[in-house]
Amino acid sequence: MKFSEECGIFGGVSTNYPVAPLIQQGLFVLQHRGQESAGICAGDKDLYIYKNKGLVMEVLNDRVIKNIRGKLGIGHVRYSTQGGSDSTHAQPYAVNYLGEKVAVAHNGNVKSAVDMRKKLEKQGEVFLTTSDTEMLLKKVIRELCKTPSEWTFEEVGRILTENFTGGAWSILFFVPGKIFAYRDPHGYRPMSLCEAEEGVFVSSEDTSFQMLERHLVYHIEPGEGVEITRDGYEIKRFAPEMPSKKCVFEQIYFARPDSNVFGRNVYMSRVELGRKCAIENPVEADIVVPVMESGFAPALGFSQQSGIPLQMGLMRNRFVGRTFILPEQYMRQSSVRRKLTPIIDVVKDKRVIIIDDSIVRGTTSREIVRMLRQAGAKEVHFRSASPQIVNTCQWGVDIPTKKELIANKYEDVDGIREFIEADSLAYLSLEGLKEIFGHEGWCYSCLMHD
Ligand code: SF4
Repeated sequence: MKFSEECGIFGGVSTNYPVAPLIQQGLFVLQHRGQESAGICAGDKDLYIYKNKGLVMEVLNDRVIKNIRGKLGIGHVRYSTQGGSDSTHAQPYAVNYLGEKVAVAHNGNVKSAVDMRKKLEKQGEVFLTTSDTEMLLKKVIRELCKTPSEWTFEEVGRILTENFTGGAWSILFFVPGKIFAYRDPHGYRPMSLCEAEEGVFVSSEDTSFQMLERHLVYHIEPGEGVEITRDGYEIKRFAPEMPSKKCVFEQIYFARPDSNVFGRNVYMSRVELGRKCAIENPVEADIVVPVMESGFAPALGFSQQSGIPLQMGLMRNRFVGRTFILPEQYMRQSSVRRKLTPIIDVVKDKRVIIIDDSIVRGTTSREIVRMLRQAGAKEVHFRSASPQIVNTCQWGVDIPTKKELIANKYEDVDGIREFIEADSLAYLSLEGLKEIFGHEGWCYSCLMHD
């Protein structure tokens, strides 16, 4: 896979120990959601912040974490979908206001950000970054005009709902003595809560709670949030129920297989995608080979359904970052070969079905087909465990422009097959995808033409 995911957030209040090491570990588990920068804000009433470009364990290393005190905190891993990618854009984003500090960490994308920003600038607001997160915080500050310790969960939720409904925001606020967490009324991005011996925490993905003792997990609904203090927590609805728009790509690609997202285990969903793909797109072959990592579960499903054995025909170099991190096309192509290597003894003289979670630009897929042929594969049949991606995303996922998407470059699948040089190519149908997840309640926008 080949398009960029968004961000991850983790925060909460610890009981007996400083919160920083728990946030460090929580963010480490969420590293797959953003590898550009990492950051933490923690304290009690006062606030210490540390953030920079880099991976969690580089930026928030043990030396840094040891010096961050306090039992309340929020943290963030970032992949930039809006705003720049330098260290000033790292989150959490914090400001001083009326003698107090307030900070915010955001996963998602605010559709109305550009217009709102212009409006605020005309009113004299100054921005240090181009990110929608700063704009969001400054809008809240302007509306409330009082010291952050006086802010209430309900007031902040009302401002978010009135101004940013339609956007995607799973968001954490640190105000003195309190953490506020909100999931937008359409619920594009996931958010879960955990009550454990170590404290109460909120995270983009519930698998990050597995490090905690005796945890009890609650999946926060769209339009719901939670207020956490040293005295406890309360789950509250801050916005009326609206049609839910859960991002289906959280299930297909973004989230970790060991997470339960939107009420479904991600690994199990992906196995089902593969099974469905095998039912819809059978082909005679000798082995099924996954594009690691996210192609593994669908390949297993394809293999189980078709009876064709699963083989690890492509080895992944675990020390190479994900393909999309490299910004230029020529760099992306070479990085595929740095990331994946065929196991010649497995694929030589075989009819291979290669399974990937999706096809975006098609260049990765073509490199894989070429590699397999060079390794001696007799036939290469490509199967995508998701439908064609034909549209961009306005909710925080950095999909290439419509023109760059391979599905828009050719009139039919055979044109794409020729481009990727496969013997056959087929996608899971949109109808098949909806049969798995449901016709309602999900965002399928990037899989549908305008
Ligand atoms: S457009 Fe696609 S990537 Fe964006 S939120 Fe919807 S399903 Fe997810």
